[in-house]
Amino acid sequence: ATLANQIAAGEVVERPASILKELLENSLDAQATRITIQLQGGGMDLLSVEDNGTGILPEDLPLALERHATSKVASWEDLQAIQTMGFRGEALPAIASVARIEILSRTHDAGQGARLQVHGGEVLASEPAARAPGTTVQVADLFYNVPARRKFLRSAAAELTRIQKVLRQIALANFPVAFQLLQNRRSLVQYPAATDAEACSARVASILGEGFLANALYLEQSDQGMSLRGWLGLPTYNSARGDEQYFFVNGRPVRDPVLTHALRAAYQDVLFQDRHPLFVLYLDMPAEQVDVNVHPAKAEVRFRDSRAVHDFLFHTLRRIIAEQGGDKPQISV
Ligand code: ADP
Ligand code: MG
Repeated sequence: ATLANQIAAGEVVERPASILKELLENSLDAQATRITIQLQGGGMDLLSVEDNGTGILPEDLPLALERHATSKVASWEDLQAIQTMGFRGEALPAIASVARIEILSRTHDAGQGARLQVHGGEVLASEPAARAPGTTVQVADLFYNVPARRKFLRSAAAELTRIQKVLRQIALANFPVAFQLLQNRRSLVQYPAATDAEACSARVASILGEGFLANALYLEQSDQGMSLRGWLGLPTYNSARGDEQYFFVNGRPVRDPVLTHALRAAYQDVLFQDRHPLFVLYLDMPAEQVDVNVHPAKAEVRFRDSRAVHDFLFHTLRRIIAEQGGDKPQISV
């Protein structure tokens, strides 16, 4: 089982940033509203994620580390209509097979919590423990037992950069959740919970810069069950960070050629120019119209009717680009 988990780890556990993504998604699936990330050595020595979510019952804790023991999918129908981020039950066992991990968790109703310690897939301790409701997953000494994989990691600074990128992405998709990132107990990033338009804009500004927000159009458009909203940077605005393009489909960060194409085509159509604008865009549609079960890292999606999605994106973006400088409606959360 350990070997199978280590192989699975090759897909989902590439580096600290990919582990962070999995742990954050688990916390979000557990309805956490406050998430604290602690790092040492760019997450290679220590990466811990603490949340105030639903927690795990003591008797279910060992199950969380069993392969395909997801609590989130009971049937094929569930898989079709998947709403949660995780659903494969692979992340925790994979991580546990290549690091020393400790999970401390308590549900709201349980009188006490439990602690499970697993090193390289082997259970070392499982015992009752005190904790406020929620879950802490601590991952230490990543790849201590797979030196060949450890060699592919970069410097602590480079790993930290990737971690911050993952956090920005997740923070932009989860405004009501408060996030904090600390390294060696020093706070590096803090996003307070944002539950109104002003606070959401403040989070966007703190992630993409005040300059972006001042030079972006807010759009909100629905048609045929699809809705597109978010901020599109003016073509004249150039940020120091040229790669700040965020696209979310049903709340998941996605890199998608359909959007890229529609955006380019819209700019070509209006300005006769090829542009590479910054944006934060959210596309929402019925879950059965989009297949998110494409790749374990889940950065890709497949649309049932990609032509319809493309046309909707193209027409919406084309209109907003053509009317640029128009009124900026308020964001709704
Ligand atoms: P998946 O997310 O695909 O179900 P994981 O391996 O990521 O699989 O997690 C396994 C299980 O552990 C989850 O299905 C969930 O029941 C439980 N779990 C993991 N992290 C948390 C958390 N932060 N809060 C509550 N439950 C969690
Ligand atoms: Mg998961």
